[in-house]
Amino acid sequence: IMNPEKGSISIHTENIFPVIKKFLYSDNEIFLRELVSNAVDASQKIKRLASLGQYNGETGELIVDVKFDEAAKTITISDNGIGMTAEEIKKYINQIAFSGATEFMEKFKEANDANEIIGRFGLGFYSAFMVADTVEIQSLSYQDGAEPAHWTCDGSTSYEISTGTRTTRGTDIILHINDESTEFLSQARLQEILDKYAKFLPIPIRFGTKTSSEPDGEDEEGKPKYKSVEVDNIINNTNPAWTKSPSELKDEDYLAFYRELYPYSMDEPLFWIHLNVDYPFNLTGILYFPKVKNELEIQRNKIKLYSRQVFITDEVKDIVPEFLMLLHGVIDSPDIPLNVSRSFLQADSNVKKINSYITKKVADKLNEIFKTDRKGFEEKWTDIGLFIKYGMLSDEKFAEKASDFCLVKNTNNASFTIKEYYEKVKDIQVDKDGNIVYLYTHDAAQQDGFIQTALNKGYDVLVLDGPLDTHFTSYLEQKGGEKVQLKRVDADVIDKLIQKDEKIELSLSEEESKKALEVFEKAISRQDMKVEVDALREGDLPVSVTIDEFMRRMKDMAKTGGGGMNFY
Ligand code: ADP
Ligand code: MG
Repeated sequence: IMNPEKGSISIHTENIFPVIKKFLYSDNEIFLRELVSNAVDASQKIKRLASLGQYNGETGELIVDVKFDEAAKTITISDNGIGMTAEEIKKYINQIAFSGATEFMEKFKEANDANEIIGRFGLGFYSAFMVADTVEIQSLSYQDGAEPAHWTCDGSTSYEISTGTRTTRGTDIILHINDESTEFLSQARLQEILDKYAKFLPIPIRFGTKTSSEPDGEDEEGKPKYKSVEVDNIINNTNPAWTKSPSELKDEDYLAFYRELYPYSMDEPLFWIHLNVDYPFNLTGILYFPKVKNELEIQRNKIKLYSRQVFITDEVKDIVPEFLMLLHGVIDSPDIPLNVSRSFLQADSNVKKINSYITKKVADKLNEIFKTDRKGFEEKWTDIGLFIKYGMLSDEKFAEKASDFCLVKNTNNASFTIKEYYEKVKDIQVDKDGNIVYLYTHDAAQQDGFIQTALNKGYDVLVLDGPLDTHFTSYLEQKGGEKVQLKRVDADVIDKLIQKDEKIELSLSEEESKKALEVFEKAISRQDMKVEVDALREGDLPVSVTIDEFMRRMKDMAKTGGGGMNFY
């Protein structure tokens, strides 16, 4: 039996509690996330020790219990994890947990804007003091011959430690809820917080019991009967889909997981990507492409960020590339620094890497799907195309990769990659300046007359009628190289097109051309000049003489409508 011992927490800053209470107030529900995840950590530690042969006792069924007592104004979080000895409490709670708080104060003093540090600073165990006047720990370590320990701290920098009452391995954290935080002494409120943060934790979290209906034989007419029974109210799915290997999952598993993530969503996603990266950092997740008609209707901020299955936030702005904000789903990474402010997050190089890596992975995955199942990809194009185009327009790196699988469709509903399309029309849709003209319509019904004329002449017409396609046409033009021009299909444009292999009426015979060449070359007789005799169509110049060093400039001039240097 140890003598009760009083001590003082070595903390440099006095009056830290009022500051923390004030500035973390808006986010104070995270105390439960922190304490429950500590309990989960402690449970996983005992599991690991057992599997390493360093613990020979029975691990038993590991479970975390959350209970509250409205009359006594307490919330208790209990686990049967690794437990702590008195010495460990002094070390891990008094020194380490409190040093996190000291660090918080340092940051707080440095920050110009208090808002910068609010909310994203995980205070761990210490966050208990946001809602509790007094916090107690009752713990029994797994170690042989360990004595139970009891620690109390009333929110000042002094604590008391004495012999505890636990008779089984594990820890109880007992919070004596302060007067401003009594909202947390409610079944509904606690259930809500647990649903938010603990829904996918890897150890079962039990929050009392709930009524469930179970089959109870049959009635006289042979219809099944049900009875109400009290069952454990387990908050979480300890094995969420994103932690599994894609090979274990079928389409219906992905759809079921989507419903688990968004129980109130009516629509089913159309398409998903399972991310599984372990180098250069750890990242897993499932991103869903929702069904949408218009990008304005899509809800942003639907991606949930987890760290080792603990929910952190659904504000993933700094971690997920802007264009992927339109997607839904989960990202889990232990490598994203969570215990820092948001502005810090933006500057963090790991976060930047993660951001570009997600972009790359999503592009690679789409490319892989495109290559292995082009038909399926084409069928889903209407739905995923919007996201891909949005990505291409807003992210150059993504655009580079996506140009391999970004599709365009023509009026016959045939799909082409950008490259394929270029190959298709480069010889048949040329204007007299040598531009390759892509004909498109944004309203096939309205422009049907022109479309038919174009088709009759053997030309092709793209359908670009999506919400982002106005921007996308200029993208295609830009990326198509200097020769590609997009033109809305109309009579005038169609008239001006030619086919490169169209038989050109020669104004000079071959013999005549040869002669003309000789004459001009002799007359000019300069090494740096190049004479060409082209048998061109009416109205064009039959002979051109160009000076090499001016080639590039002339090309530029030709592009802006000026001609080259011409000699008659
Ligand atoms: P972190 O979890 O990031 O280490 P915390 O402030 O949340 O920081 O917790 C500090 C330390 O206290 C933990 O690392 C752990 O060693 C110890 N601890 C907290 N809660 C428990 C618990 N329920 N069981 C065993 N150890 C615990
Ligand atoms: Mg913790």
